[in-house]
Amino acid sequence: MMAGVLKTEELSSYRQVLESLKSRLRGDLDQMTDEALGRDDGAGNHSKVPLHLADLGTDNYDQEFTLGLIENEQETLDLVNEAIGRLATGVYGACLGCGQAIAKPRLQAIPYARHCIQCARKLEEQE
Ligand SMILES: [Zn+2]
Repeated sequence: MMAGVLKTEELSSYRQVLESLKSRLRGDLDQMTDEALGRDDGAGNHSKVPLHLADLGTDNYDQEFTLGLIENEQETLDLVNEAIGRLATGVYGACLGCGQAIAKPRLQAIPYARHCIQCARKLEEQE
């Protein structure tokens, strides 16, 4: 049985982590989408460097860079949403490949992980 992989308290703490990750990603996405689109519209307005990009640690504002981030963040957001869905259906913490429990250090590092480390490695090799 997949149910009972994690204790209720553990599930609620993962839920908290996932929800805060989700709202952070959403906020970032909104902000970056605005910046990217705003950049498109105001082609001559190169002096307006967005402040938050300084926080991301880049000196050279580059639309492609931002669009890449949006893409990655969107993918992560999708994974986070999936994981929240698995919390709701009670299969969170179980590997989608083999059904075994995902190791806790892995879940703590990547709370939206879909696969255990063995299955993740196999998938990587296939790509
Ligand atoms: Zn697995």
